[in-house]
Amino acid sequence: MNESLDSLLKSDRQHFLHPSTHAHDHAVGALPGQIITGAEGIRITDHNGRSFIDAFAGLYCVNIGYGRIEVAEAMYEQAKRLAYYHTYAGHSTETIIELSRRIINEWAPSGMKKVFYGMSGSDANETQIKLVWYYNNVLSRPNKKKIISRDRGYHGSGIVTGSMTGLSGFHQCFDLPIERVKHTICPHWYRRAPQGMDEPAFSQYCADKLEEMILAEGPDTVAAFIGEPVLGTGGIVPPPVGYWQAIQPVLKKYDILLIVDEVVCAFGRLGSPMGSQHYGIAPDLLTIAKGLTSAYAPLSGVIIGERVWEIIDRGSRDLGPMGHGWTYSGHPVCAAAAIANLDILQRENICVNAAEVGAYMQQQMHATFDSHPLVGEVRGVGMLAALEFMAQPTERVPFDPALKVGPRVSAAALERGMIARGMPNGDILGFAPPLVATRTDVDEIVRITKEAVDAVADQVL
Ligand code: PLP
Repeated sequence: MNESLDSLLKSDRQHFLHPSTHAHDHAVGALPGQIITGAEGIRITDHNGRSFIDAFAGLYCVNIGYGRIEVAEAMYEQAKRLAYYHTYAGHSTETIIELSRRIINEWAPSGMKKVFYGMSGSDANETQIKLVWYYNNVLSRPNKKKIISRDRGYHGSGIVTGSMTGLSGFHQCFDLPIERVKHTICPHWYRRAPQGMDEPAFSQYCADKLEEMILAEGPDTVAAFIGEPVLGTGGIVPPPVGYWQAIQPVLKKYDILLIVDEVVCAFGRLGSPMGSQHYGIAPDLLTIAKGLTSAYAPLSGVIIGERVWEIIDRGSRDLGPMGHGWTYSGHPVCAAAAIANLDILQRENICVNAAEVGAYMQQQMHATFDSHPLVGEVRGVGMLAALEFMAQPTERVPFDPALKVGPRVSAAALERGMIARGMPNGDILGFAPPLVATRTDVDEIVRITKEAVDAVADQVL
């Protein structure tokens, strides 16, 4: 490493508090640190000039792949014409008007009415909960405010969103979760199903657990249920067969709103426009972020269904303007990035590629790892996949966490030129490549993964 890069890393350690990072280890240099200098397609380059396949698309967000000049140019043109104007009190820009029309007409499931914009998945989900509380206050149901989320769900790291996130690392020392947020069972068949129970029966079991919780809390106090179509950060867990079909009637029965958090699944990740269409989910509210701009600019959205919109409409007639908004809601440069991104997704049929190459990725992962002695479960859907490592796969006995099997496999893959994500709950390696990946790319991803898994198996088995 040359001198100036060394000093860059030193300066990084001195001045930058990184998100989701071991603060001490980073500050003292015990974390190696990596400076990314460029990217193209599905590959990134670091400060040493090394190239890596990014098999996690950043944080599963770069759907169209890196280095799309067309998006950069759209942002540049917008910034030259109009870099910013706010959207309070009915102000608008042509760019955000076009984007909203396209999201509702071309991407959202039916029954969705309007989009409210933020900058991140977290702030969008904070907005969701404020809208849910507003909704019940307008309906004169001041006690109907609790939110049910799921163990291992991920919804961000704000106050309410961090509470809804069902991972203890996001609660510890932050006085979370807040009282109004409850967690029901994680629908992970392999780890949570009672012995001998098949997937459809487990889905019904999850729905029964949800109903038990609603009854225990009091249906008049439960306002909303939030879930990702496929659990993401909690370990890339597709729903068991029939899950959403079992859950939705329970919510209907007790008049509980359904918030579908599509931050990962929307814009083609599963090979469908959104997870809602993929699984037949009818949301009242829906959250989008990442794939909306493929992370070329920070933009998120809350998509509001007709039922909630009617009450917001009524509320404003009684109460005046809603006191909620961000300076950057509907930022025109981010909207320009989103429109260019949607153009590329549609023109290149990227959803179709994600469905086809995704199916190939699932097939190759199963063929390579189903009977590997280190692997307990191979799972995934579309361009999302995970391997869960187990000490005794058939008996479902996990490794001692101190062995850090998941992080070791992730490090072994990195050494071999590929980024796959060690997920925070168990020994799980996650894959979410850009949706433009080809079969040849998948072959390389699976080959490198096999070498990495074999290397760690030699150490721990
Ligand atoms: N919801 C889901 C499903 C996510 O995966 C994430 C981030 O990974 C978020 C919300 C939070 O998004 P952000 O990190 O942009 O705040």
